[in-house]
Amino acid sequence: MMVTHVYIFILGLILGSFFNVVGLSVPVSTPFVNRRSACPSCGRTLTSLELIPVISYVLQGGKCRGCKAGISLLYPIVEMLTGILFVSAPLFLGYSGELLICWTLISLFMIIFVSDVTYMLIPDKILLFFMLIFIILRISFPLSPWWDSLAGAAIGFSLPLLIAVVSKGGMGGGDIKLFAVIGFTLGTKLMLLSFLFASFYGAFFGIIGMLSGALNKKTVIPFGPYIVFGTLTAYYWGEDIVSLYVSLLR
Ligand SMILES: [Zn+2]
Repeated sequence: MMVTHVYIFILGLILGSFFNVVGLSVPVSTPFVNRRSACPSCGRTLTSLELIPVISYVLQGGKCRGCKAGISLLYPIVEMLTGILFVSAPLFLGYSGELLICWTLISLFMIIFVSDVTYMLIPDKILLFFMLIFIILRISFPLSPWWDSLAGAAIGFSLPLLIAVVSKGGMGGGDIKLFAVIGFTLGTKLMLLSFLFASFYGAFFGIIGMLSGALNKKTVIPFGPYIVFGTLTAYYWGEDIVSLYVSLLR
C-alpha cells in the first residue's frame, strides 16, 4: 500500500464522519455545527479524542463515556465505508477526471445512505447541490457522446417514475430524482445497469428478510442503499458484466 493510499483512506474516514453529520442534520434542518460535538443523550461535550472516526467508537465500546448511552453503529459504518470506497475508486478508474466524479458520487451516496436509513428520506437540497457539482464536472469531463448526460437524466427520471406509477409505490420521489442525477452523471447505459443491480439487490435482500422473518410484506424498506450499491456495481464492473453476458449468449 502506497502512502498516498493511506492519505486517501484517512481523508475518506474524516469525510465520512462529516457525511454522517450532513445526512443526519439536513433532513431535520438543524445546522451542521455542534450536531456531532455533543452526546445526543446527555448533551455532554465530546472531547477531540471522541471525535476520531471509527477509533473513538471502538475505544469507547460503542457507548457514551458519560451516560453509557449506545452510539449508533451507523457512524463507524459510514466512516469506514467512505474510507474503503475512496481508497478503492482509483483501482477502478485510475487517477483521472473520472475519479473526481466517482469521489463526488461516493460523497453523495454516503449522505443519502445516512438520511435514507435514518429518516427514509433523500433530501432535495442534497440532490440539487450535487447535481450542480456534477453539471460542472461533466462540462469539464464530458461523457462520450456528451448528450448522453441529458439522455441519461431523462431516462433516469422517467423509467423509475413509470415503474412507481405502475407498481403504485415501492419507489419514492427521492429515488426517482436520484436516478435522474445518476443518469446525468454516468449516462444511459450505466444508469440502466444501476437500476437493474439496485432492483436485484432489493429483491435479494427482501426475499432473505422475508424468509428469515425479519420483514413482512408490509415492511417499508428504504431503497436508497440498494441504489447506492447497485450504482457502484454498475460503475466499477458494469462494462465487464455486460461483455461477459454477451459472450455467454454467443
Ligand atoms: Zn452521553
